[in-house]
Amino acid sequence: MKVTLSMSKTIHHWINGAEVAGQSGRFSDVYNPAFGEVSARVQLAMPTELAAAVAAAKAAFPAWAATPPLRRARVMFKFKELLEKHAEEIVAAIASEHGKVKADAHGELIRGLEVVEFACGAPHLLKGEFAENVGTAVDSYSLRQPLGVVAGITPFNFPAMVPMWMFPLALVAGNSFILKPSERDPSTALILARLLKEAGLPDGVFNVVQGDKVAVDAILDHPDIQAVSFVGSTPIAQYIYASGTAKGKRVQALGGAKNHMVVMPDADLDQAVDALMGAAYGSAGERCMAISVAVAVGDATADALIAKLAPKVQTLKIGAWDSSADVEMGPLVTREHKAKVAGYIDAGVAEGAKLVVDGRHHVVAGCESGFFLGGSLFDGVRTEMKIYQEEIFGPVLCVVRVDSYEEAIRITNGHAYGNGTAIFTRDGDAARDFVARIQVGMVGVNVPIPVPMAFMSFGGWKASLFGDHHAYGAEGIRFYTRLKTVTARWPQSIRSGAEFVMPTMK
Ligand code: NAD
Repeated sequence: MKVTLSMSKTIHHWINGAEVAGQSGRFSDVYNPAFGEVSARVQLAMPTELAAAVAAAKAAFPAWAATPPLRRARVMFKFKELLEKHAEEIVAAIASEHGKVKADAHGELIRGLEVVEFACGAPHLLKGEFAENVGTAVDSYSLRQPLGVVAGITPFNFPAMVPMWMFPLALVAGNSFILKPSERDPSTALILARLLKEAGLPDGVFNVVQGDKVAVDAILDHPDIQAVSFVGSTPIAQYIYASGTAKGKRVQALGGAKNHMVVMPDADLDQAVDALMGAAYGSAGERCMAISVAVAVGDATADALIAKLAPKVQTLKIGAWDSSADVEMGPLVTREHKAKVAGYIDAGVAEGAKLVVDGRHHVVAGCESGFFLGGSLFDGVRTEMKIYQEEIFGPVLCVVRVDSYEEAIRITNGHAYGNGTAIFTRDGDAARDFVARIQVGMVGVNVPIPVPMAFMSFGGWKASLFGDHHAYGAEGIRFYTRLKTVTARWPQSIRSGAEFVMPTMK
């Protein structure tokens, strides 16, 4: 079924509890990537619109910050129920603008929802520490207090999950929040805003400002925004971190990735191949935790891996998210991104890598104008090649052949990115050694996409993260709160001068 949205549909901001039409006169087209058609246009904010959202958030902050954590958590309980009730609507919004297949859209919703569930534990998460009698008649205790107005800037590839890495914890900690979603798939943010309101969140506590660099720069410049969470590509993450911290803001900026999966000679190859198919080609490779490099230890391992992978890559079921067929992979997000990924495949061929499966000319019947690529598989990729060094962010897997485990460690550690990695092996010693020595933030052992659960925390190393805090989990609570430590002294002498009068009950 082809989802047809009205061409005149305009996607607005959400400020102070209601949709607000922008005044900038600037718009960006939003596509249905499966058909290559414009489905809507989204407002692009100017600084005054961002300022209006900040003013609403600032006005709402004192009452929200004073609301007991238990009551803030109850809003999240209700929000979780509403997310489940409206799951189909959210999945359709994600898939029709991003292009990912229904199962992937539903999967991202669930991962976001798990952070909402974690946030429901706010009263416990916000508890401080208490030390009795640190001196004579002196007690000491700590508080975690909200920062004020905080902002989140999010990428196109997870329009529900990544915002939910941020705002559930920011809100239950007592902050008010401005979300600047990706202009490529902006509708989901408005559904989330509507459901938060329905869950009982007071107006102004959560706001959505649609936009591009102008809105982002307005966030970085605004003196009333205390902290910025960013997820996106590394060059922009670096920019956000440098500009935000220079202006005195707390910043966590998660960047790009080039995730390696080491396949040892003793690995269960069928398991490794199944894992690679999901991890490299799921969501058309547009995942920061996608495996884009398979490091095969030994030629025999590499030959067997390629022999098993190639037919599976060739027969990937590709189509529109709402097709009646059982599709595994959708289109790329935009025409430009498709061209960029195809350009990387051209570059790999030109640099001498062996293109075992060529996905550049794949056509989906009925979706001839869609932004589809087939899966591509390279063998013989070397570390000096552009397809090895840069993030492709598409359905392209590069197999690098190494002679030894030590070489696998050396090249993985030598890469500029350090988001996720995995080792597939039956050898417990090798796995333990890998975990200890690998310079990457999230590590899988026989697990290809080791995304930490909501009660752990998510974050890479090196060029994959700028800042001191990972996302969500305990790290999220720390990021969105300030620690205050109180030392209180109640010596006998304070009371000795005054007569203590028992209050009477009225
Ligand atoms: P992007 O960096 O192009 O955009 C991210 C956000 O920054 C968007 O909201 C966008 O509007 C804004 N932006 C874009 N250009 C800007 C500029 N010049 N100045 C200021 N703001 C700007 O990223 P994307 O293409 O939307 O998403 C894909 C990237 O995100 C990939 O690199 C992927 O690895 C990364 N990503 C990382 C993680 C992680 O957890 N590390 C998670 C998801 C995605």
